[in-house]
Amino acid sequence: MSTKEWTDEELRAVNASLEGKGPDAALRWVVDNFDRDEFALACSFSECVLVDMLVGIRPGARIFYLDTGLLFKETYEVIEKVCCKYGISVERYTPRLTVAEMEREYGPELWKRDPDQCCEIRKTSAMRAALGGLKLWITGLRREESATRASAPIVGRDVRFGIVKVNPIAAWTRKEVWDYIVRNDVPYNPLLDQGYPSIGCKPCTEPVKTGEDERAGRWAGRAKIECGLHK
Ligand code: SF4
Repeated sequence: MSTKEWTDEELRAVNASLEGKGPDAALRWVVDNFDRDEFALACSFSECVLVDMLVGIRPGARIFYLDTGLLFKETYEVIEKVCCKYGISVERYTPRLTVAEMEREYGPELWKRDPDQCCEIRKTSAMRAALGGLKLWITGLRREESATRASAPIVGRDVRFGIVKVNPIAAWTRKEVWDYIVRNDVPYNPLLDQGYPSIGCKPCTEPVKTGEDERAGRWAGRAKIECGLHK
C-alpha cells in the first residue's frame, strides 16, 4: 500500500513535468504512484475517452459516476454500452435523498429555485461519499470548456475535497477528444451529436448555440456554470 503524502510543492513539480506530455503520461504517473484503491476516475459518461485510456493502462481501476436521479436516458444507455464494451462495472453513487424525497422536503423543482442547494444535495454530497478514503481522483475537465476551467492544472490539490486531483485531458481541445473517439471507437453520449457539448442533469442542460462556450447550456440563463464539484 502506498503511504506517501504528496506536498503541494511536489504536486506543482509533477504538474510542471507533465504539462505538454499528454493524457497517457498523466495516467501513468497516477498508476505508478497510487495503489488501485487509492484513486478513481469520475466519469459523466459523455465522452468516455478517459475510461478507454485508463482501462488500457490499469485494468480494474475504479470508475464511478454520480447518479443524481435526473440524468438523461442517453447517459444511462452509454453507461451500459461502456460496461459491455470494456467488460467492466462502474460504481454508482446516489444522493442522500431521492428526487421525490427532495420534493417533499424542499418543494418541487428545487433546481429552478435554488440550483446551488440542489447540486449540494444531489451531487456534492454523493461526491463526498465517492471520494471517501481516496487519495486522488481523475476527472475529464478541460481548459477549453469554459473560462472557469481555463487555468486547470494537469495535477494539483483539490482544495474542496482535500485530495489530489488529476485532469489528464485538461489541455486537450474538443477536436483532439473527437479524433481520439473516432480513432479508438470509443462509446459516447449521442446527445453530443445533438448540440449538447456538456451533459449533466436533464432539467439543467440545454443545447448550445454556435460560438458559445461548451458549458453555456448548463444552467442556461443563470450565472451558475459549475455544480460545485470543480472549484
Ligand atoms: S444539475 Fe440541476 S438538477 Fe442536477 S443537481 Fe444540479 S441543480 Fe440539481
